[in-house]
Amino acid sequence: MLRIHQIQVLTDNYVYVITESKSKITACVDPSVFDDIENFLDKNNLKLDYILNTHHHNDHVGGNLKLKNKYGCKIIGSMNDQDRIPGIDIKLKENDSFLIGKSAFKIIDTPGHTNGHICFYFEEDQVLFSGDTLFSLGCGRLFEGTYKDMVSSLLKIKSLSSKTKIYCGHEYTLNNAKFCKKYDSENKDLQKKIEKIEKLRENGIPTVPTTLKEELECNIFLRAKDVKTFSKLRDFKDNF
Ligand code: ZN
Ligand code: FE
Repeated sequence: MLRIHQIQVLTDNYVYVITESKSKITACVDPSVFDDIENFLDKNNLKLDYILNTHHHNDHVGGNLKLKNKYGCKIIGSMNDQDRIPGIDIKLKENDSFLIGKSAFKIIDTPGHTNGHICFYFEEDQVLFSGDTLFSLGCGRLFEGTYKDMVSSLLKIKSLSSKTKIYCGHEYTLNNAKFCKKYDSENKDLQKKIEKIEKLRENGIPTVPTTLKEELECNIFLRAKDVKTFSKLRDFKDNF
């Protein structure tokens, strides 16, 4: 079983430190920075065995090399992005499995935000680290991929168990909610979700993780019925 610690860094980034309970093997998902992660690990008496990178953007890999230097951890990323992930050691491709102690994850290729973007799916733990592909009530901007790429990446995520907990890279939920509300104003599930997240944010509590079930009900980008609708929404959102 995984224990997941959520660390907020920079303005709105989430870094996750995961420890497998039996073996105490520890990994860090998308370490944007070094200092906050080092503090956390030292305070909790943890060593770092692996870094898992969803994609090459600096707000996800910024702490890679310093952490590797201090802890000698191995860095795991996409085979397709081996030239852009600093310090990469283990290059994985779609459907590859890997063990963190007794917990297995699988690689899901999710091009769109960047061409080499991947998500880490822990099937037994029902956990997905979605990076900047799927956010709560939103999805990543298309810096490199096409609309079609992103739609098929989101389709892969939609096919997972609806109980899956989604741990994404940013706390963008409140702003995403305003956008969803504008274009999906009759959605009762969305209205309920917005009340919930407004309360959380008022109290400074993260809205992440979310669940795939809630996203299927409320996230307008997951609900878009075809690529054309998705493209329009993505364009509107870029100028929102
Ligand atoms: Zn990014
Ligand atoms: Fe990011």
